[in-house]
Amino acid sequence: MNPALLNELAQGLRPLDQGMAWFESLNQDGRHRALIELQEYCTQARATADDVAEAASRVGLKPGNTAVVVASTGRIPEPMAVQLRKLTELRPPDQQRSAFRLLVGLLSVADERRRRRCGGDCTHWWHHPPTPHAPNDGPGPA
Ligand SMILES: [Zn+2]
Repeated sequence: MNPALLNELAQGLRPLDQGMAWFESLNQDGRHRALIELQEYCTQARATADDVAEAASRVGLKPGNTAVVVASTGRIPEPMAVQLRKLTELRPPDQQRSAFRLLVGLLSVADERRRRRCGGDCTHWWHHPPTPHAPNDGPGPA
């Protein structure tokens, strides 16, 4: 749907406000699809239940927020994918916005961990974003 935007949000390359504005510009079906796409990325990045608290604090959600509660409660050992799927099923607009924020936060936490494991030696396109201001590019003393 918009993988570049979603990954840039998770990596902090774009302000979350921009992501929220984009999310709110979508219709109901589009929001649902955006949540599903984020949920899939989080699952691929191996987000865990332990990441929820850190994710919530990164995106400014309180522990009692519905999305946070939904993501952190469930029958253990329910797979995280199942937990996160519940976030995509929230319908009230304010809960959907919270779910979007939380999934961005989870992708941020989980992908940061994955990126450390990659160590720059990987084929994940989003780990190699174009760097327009790369200071060490081109001729000159290193
Ligand atoms: Zn990578």
